[in-house]
Amino acid sequence: LLDADAARDWMARTAAAVLDERDRLTELDAAIGDGDHGVSMVRGFTAVSAALAAAGELSLPGAVLLLAGRTLVSSVGGASGPLYGSALRAVGKALGDAGGADGKQVGAALGAGRDAIAALGGARGGDKTMLDAWIPAVAGFEFAVAGGGSLDAAAQFAAGAAEGGADETVGMEARKGRASYLGPRSVGHLDPGAASTVLLFRALADAVG
Ligand code: ADP
Ligand code: MG
Ligand code: MG
Repeated sequence: LLDADAARDWMARTAAAVLDERDRLTELDAAIGDGDHGVSMVRGFTAVSAALAAAGELSLPGAVLLLAGRTLVSSVGGASGPLYGSALRAVGKALGDAGGADGKQVGAALGAGRDAIAALGGARGGDKTMLDAWIPAVAGFEFAVAGGGSLDAAAQFAAGAAEGGADETVGMEARKGRASYLGPRSVGHLDPGAASTVLLFRALADAVG
């Protein structure tokens, strides 16, 4: 089950991963954006770690993720803070007052996160954004749960699907965000937000594994 400790672990592992991959995320964004994605993600998840430490005991995973989402929205300028922040707030809200969420509940909550990104940013699949990793990740998660897979197995499957989706962005032309200013010249590059989404889903798999 995804309980409050597992949700904290998810956020801590994401913070560690974006710190590890900061330079790669920044290089990806330098190629088709403004070169701040690694720095923004590190700033945001460092603030999340601090906020969760300051909050002390939180008994619900939903409360952990609501706080994480609010913190991202308020600590990161640029596109990714509000997008990831809204996503995590939606995940937290969807988990509601469950003390421990099972695969079906987590799948539905991740779907709410995906939908929040789409609602806020107005992007669709194929626009070369973080949604191109989120969409297959959530679909993969739900597919695994529907097939009787455990939360752990579903999260592993989702992480692999996120990675496959991120790889697909290389061939896409950006239609949303800064990369869209490049038009056809955005083709041939991995989308930075899709790359960081892979880190988020890997961290989830490690946290529940
Ligand atoms: P900024 O572009 O403001 O500098 P970041 O560099 O932190 O923000 O994040 C860029 C990433 O945000 C992109 O790689 C893309 O994945 C994502 N993104 C940008 N605009 C949108 C949007 N409208 N919908 C979904 N994702 C978006
Ligand atoms: Mg940027
Ligand atoms: Mg920027």
